[in-house]
Amino acid sequence: MKLRTLIFGALLLVSVLPVGILAYWQQQTAVSNEFSVVENQHKVIAKNLTIALDRYATDLRSAFQLTTENLQNPNEIEGLEWHLSELYFQHVCLIDASGNIQQLQCAMACPAAEKFSETVLLSIRQTLQAAANEKGVIHFSHITHNPKQQPAIYLVRVMADGNTAIGEVSPQYFIELQRAVAFGEKGHAAIVDNIGRVIAHPKPDWMNSMKDLSRVSVVQKMLNGENGVTRFYSPAVKADMVAGFNSVPGVGWGVMVPQPQSEIYLHAESISKAALTIAILGVFVASFLSWWISGILSKPMQLLADAAQAVARGDLSSKVGLSANPRPIEIRKLEKSFNQMIDDVGRKNTVLVNLAHEAVSSSNHKSAFISSMNHELRTPMNAVLGFAQMLEMNTQEPLTENQKSAIEHILRNGNHLLELIDQMLDLNKIEAGTLPLKMEDIPARDVLDESLYLIRERAHHERVEIIDQTWGGKLPLLWTDSTRLIQVLLNLMTNAVKYNRKGGTVTLGCEQVPEQMLRIRITDTGIGIPAEQQDDLFKPFERLGHELGNIDGSGIGLSITRQIVEMLGGQIGFESDEDKGSSFWVDIPLSNKESPLEEEINAADTPALNSKRHKNEGVVRTVLYIEDNPDNVHLVEAIIGQFGYIELLTAENATIGFDLATSKRPDLILMDINLPGMNGLQALKRLKQTRETQDIPVIAITSNTMPKDIVGGLKAGFQAYITKPIKVTEFIQTIDQTLNRVDKFG
Ligand code: ADP
Repeated sequence: MKLRTLIFGALLLVSVLPVGILAYWQQQTAVSNEFSVVENQHKVIAKNLTIALDRYATDLRSAFQLTTENLQNPNEIEGLEWHLSELYFQHVCLIDASGNIQQLQCAMACPAAEKFSETVLLSIRQTLQAAANEKGVIHFSHITHNPKQQPAIYLVRVMADGNTAIGEVSPQYFIELQRAVAFGEKGHAAIVDNIGRVIAHPKPDWMNSMKDLSRVSVVQKMLNGENGVTRFYSPAVKADMVAGFNSVPGVGWGVMVPQPQSEIYLHAESISKAALTIAILGVFVASFLSWWISGILSKPMQLLADAAQAVARGDLSSKVGLSANPRPIEIRKLEKSFNQMIDDVGRKNTVLVNLAHEAVSSSNHKSAFISSMNHELRTPMNAVLGFAQMLEMNTQEPLTENQKSAIEHILRNGNHLLELIDQMLDLNKIEAGTLPLKMEDIPARDVLDESLYLIRERAHHERVEIIDQTWGGKLPLLWTDSTRLIQVLLNLMTNAVKYNRKGGTVTLGCEQVPEQMLRIRITDTGIGIPAEQQDDLFKPFERLGHELGNIDGSGIGLSITRQIVEMLGGQIGFESDEDKGSSFWVDIPLSNKESPLEEEINAADTPALNSKRHKNEGVVRTVLYIEDNPDNVHLVEAIIGQFGYIELLTAENATIGFDLATSKRPDLILMDINLPGMNGLQALKRLKQTRETQDIPVIAITSNTMPKDIVGGLKAGFQAYITKPIKVTEFIQTIDQTLNRVDKFG
């Protein structure tokens, strides 16, 4: 998941969640909230209207009392009529028991007759009765029609003299008060009298007819003197209503403030919609902000990651661009530190690269030095060992015992020196990681036979018996480099012979072990290795105390052996008992192919090593040897002299050699490669391009023993590649074979 997506998701969740919860909560509580707000409002309005009506009732009472008393004892009260009119009194009069008007104070209108309306008196008889029962106390009648059939309320007071004071009041003040209250579409106020008849209402006909609402539940509550809020069905509006209601104490008028519930639901819904709209807007804004902030945070991180990736790929020039875009201080610091780090790494890298170059060049120098030493040592050794072999083989002039022993010493030490040179070369290649391996499927039998063949002579010489327990058994195919494996086995066998006793044995055995390996075991009956020295066995140049003894050795054989075995994908181990002997084993990976049949193996065998020398009596052959080192020329002259039928021509450089070759057309050319001027490879090329010489076989005799040199030489067209120091027997065989081939096909 991308960092930006992660930050964006987290921010969005944190910002949107509260908005969502708030919107949901608002949605859920909108209706109840709205009801509670409206109910409170209506309660307050109803209460305020009640207070206004209470004050009006008080004003009416005071004005009525003043007027009635003034009517009994007339006094000129200035503005009385105006004052009464202000309070919507039509008039105030005193009537006797027969209804005749005794005294009269007109205000908005005067009565039409001298006798008070019988109908009105009949209508307000209960009020009159109540007033008669409480003389002097002012009573309010319910609403009724006056003689002009207009709604009116009457104030009644029975005076001490028995007359009755009656004041007619128009409901105008109620109507004005009622009209002042209007809200919503159908929200209004309504005022009823003390028996539940309409005094003021938005419906004019209800007012004119003074509609009786005493059956409506809320009106009943008012008539009982209750205050509060209620919900009810209104037949007038034909809707469910919610209403605040209150009653005026003392007079019993009721005030209610109803509103259709549908309006409240509507309002709650619109509030919910508004909340939802705000929530959606909030989500949009939150999303935008989250995206923006996630960009601010993640972009620099992305750039850092890209730069780090580029650095990991090795591009040390890649840095983070320090842009002016807004980003947190910590990230700016990180970018700066990163760039500084890259600069540092770049500097250190340059130093390391220089050091590596130096190391490589010094390693190259070392390799070149070792290679050149190899060449320089082999050339004189060629002459030394070659002549020693010649002396040993010389049957015409047999050597004395002392001379034989001296030659043996020369050969043994010379070969030991060569072995040392080879081991140093191997160690150098292993350390440089350039030891070439040619892995292939090889029959184990071949490798064991070759190793046994190579050790037998030495074992015989040291009077150690070789017992081959593998003989006759079916052996598998190995996946290995045969040359290197032979080197390993030969080293172990050589040690088994070297560190043995006269008359001892070396046993070669094989067994298949798990993990697809063949274990080759070499067991000797020699001197063994003391337990306390066994840990140092594979350390290079460690001879475990034999440095001063008479057994030749360098102490690097086992170290090289172990490294080669590991490179071949195998393992090496040993068990040893001091004075009893040692048993070394190597595990070598098996091939995943089936082992070929025995006959196939035999058919594939090259009998090169067993070939018999062939005498060519009578026919004289010419061999040209191109070599600049006179000792080596003498050696080859001595060896060739043994053939009897060969005439040897020599040339000290390639130019002379080429001329001789074209003029004399020898049957075989032997050629050193490191020649002054034109080297052996160039000379070979020239010979092959020249018609007279192109068919003459050319054999290289050289100190260049590196595998790449040998392969290169054979590819270039050398018939054979003989390395110095020459092994005389092999050398003779090669020349003999080549000349015989020339004989047959030439
Ligand atoms: P080198 O034989 O040239 O001294 P190696 O590396 O082959 O060197 O062996 C290291 C040492 O291990 C030898 O010097 C010898 O002391 C001991 N060693 C090796 N093989 C045997 C063996 N089969 N029996 C007794 N000692 C052995």
